[in-house]
Amino acid sequence: MINLPVIELKEQPNMSLPTITTQNLGISYWSKNKRIDALQNVSLTINRGEFISLIGPSGCGKSTLLNVIAGLTSPGTDVNGSFNTSGIKEIDYLFQKQTLLPWRTVIDNVTAPLEIRGIPRTERRKKALTMLEKYGLSGFENSFPRELSGGMQQRVLLIRTLIYQPDVVLLDEPLSSLDAQTRALLQDEFLRLWRDTGCTFVLVTHDLDEAIALSERVFLLSARPGRIVKEFQIDLPTERSAIAIRTDPRFQQIQREMWSELTTQVLQQQDRGFALFKT
Ligand code: ADP
Ligand code: MG
Repeated sequence: MINLPVIELKEQPNMSLPTITTQNLGISYWSKNKRIDALQNVSLTINRGEFISLIGPSGCGKSTLLNVIAGLTSPGTDVNGSFNTSGIKEIDYLFQKQTLLPWRTVIDNVTAPLEIRGIPRTERRKKALTMLEKYGLSGFENSFPRELSGGMQQRVLLIRTLIYQPDVVLLDEPLSSLDAQTRALLQDEFLRLWRDTGCTFVLVTHDLDEAIALSERVFLLSARPGRIVKEFQIDLPTERSAIAIRTDPRFQQIQREMWSELTTQVLQQQDRGFALFKT
C-alpha cells in the first residue's frame, strides 16, 4: 500500500537553493516570416519555496516565461541565453482560462492527477477529502462543476493542482475572471496553500495589489520584448492576510512605486505603437 504524506508542511524548504534560473534569456517567435521578440535578456533566480509574481503590460512575454519554465516552448521558437529548471521534480501549471472536467464530480476532478499516477482509489479519495475539507469544500465532493460558484471552481482547480504536491506551481492569471470579493477570498486561500505546502509559486497577474498581497518578490517586466526592469522585495509579514494587508502603509508605498514604474512602461509601449503607426 502506498502511504501518501498528509498535506502538511513538506520538508522545510531550503530557501538558499535556486529552483529556477534564467541567464540572459531571450525568446523569439516566428509568425508569417516575421520575428516577434517576446523576451530579452531575462536573468532571474527563483528559490525553492518562494512566492514570486510576474507583472507587466499585456503581451510583454509573461506567459512565454511560464511556458519556458514548464518546458513548453513550441518548435520553431528561438531560445537565446540559458535557463535551468533541473532542480524541479514535479511541476504543475494552472493555465489561463483552465476549467474543471464538466463530466466529473468535484472529487473525481481533484483526484485525477493521482489517478494518472496510479494511486489506489481509497488512498486518493482519502487525500482529496482531507484537502476539500481543509479548504472549505466538504459537502461538495459529489457536486458537478456547473453546480459551484466561479470562486469554488477555482479553489477546486487549485486543490487539484496541489494534490500531488508538486515542488513548483505556475499560475497564469488564475483569478482574472472572478469578481473582486471572490478574488480577495481566494487570494487568502492561495497564501494558506502556499504556506501549508511549501511549494514554489510563480504567479502571473495583471493585478498589482494581488502581486503585492501574495508575493515575497515581484518582477516587473517591460513592454515587449519583455525585460526585467525592476525587482520589488515585498517586505511585508509572511503570516499576513491578503485582504487586511492592503491597508498597511508599507503595502500602499510599494503599490505607489509599482504603479509609477508600470505607467512608465505602458507609456513607452504606446509611444512605440505610435511610432510604428506613423511609418
Ligand atoms: P503576455 O502573457 O505577457 O500577455 P505572451 O507571452 O502571451 O504575453 O506573448 C508575448 C508576445 O509573443 C505577444 O506579442 C504574442 O502575440 C507573441 N506570441 C506568444 N506566443 C506566440 C506564438 N506561439 N507564436 C507567435 N507569437 C506568439
Ligand atoms: Mg499571458
